[in-house]
Amino acid sequence: MKALKERIMRDGKCFEGGILKVDSFINHQMDPILMKSMAVEFVRRFASTKINKVMTIEASGIAPAIMVGYLLELPVVFAKKKKPSTMENMLTTTVYSFTKDRTYDVCVSKDYLCPGDRVLFIDDFLANGNAAKGIIDLVRKAGAELVGMGFLIEKSFQHGGDYLREQGIHVESLAIIESLDNCQIKIKE
Ligand code: 5GP
Repeated sequence: MKALKERIMRDGKCFEGGILKVDSFINHQMDPILMKSMAVEFVRRFASTKINKVMTIEASGIAPAIMVGYLLELPVVFAKKKKPSTMENMLTTTVYSFTKDRTYDVCVSKDYLCPGDRVLFIDDFLANGNAAKGIIDLVRKAGAELVGMGFLIEKSFQHGGDYLREQGIHVESLAIIESLDNCQIKIKE
């Protein structure tokens, strides 16, 4: 998506270890106009898919997911990173975070992820695909169906996208970063 690619080239910052910072428009300060355009693009790309629920993982996925849910007029549920003591009926899985180099549990209530749900997952980044694998596990445990995964930014050099596409999942990424070597951002045309 042209507007996102241009914004990454203009405002994205590269860090050691293959990290791209987009704190000025996605991950800290947010640009709602761009966020809306990105959601419109997801709606276009998943137009032929029957969806009844949008899912994401806290925290950075919530903003794009709520925009998509708003446009599709569908509920948005986010997987939580800490199990609330007051929540029963939880489905849980473990995710490894490469940005934080640790594992954490994510959970979702069976009240909001249900058998038969047709789930579109939306997140900010796809890197190694660990968060995505956790979501696949939660959706499977719920007896729901994952019908698509949409990412604002995919870092193809970390190959999470290869894995997901090999599983036959419909993956859409609005900008694909081919390399961050030498702190140079290379985006797929
Ligand atoms: P994965 O689980 O696919 O390895 O990584 C995805 C998660 O890690 C995303 O939800 C995102 O929060 C975080 N992440 C991975 N790579 C980056 C990056 O380059 N920049 C930022 N800001 N977050 C990232």
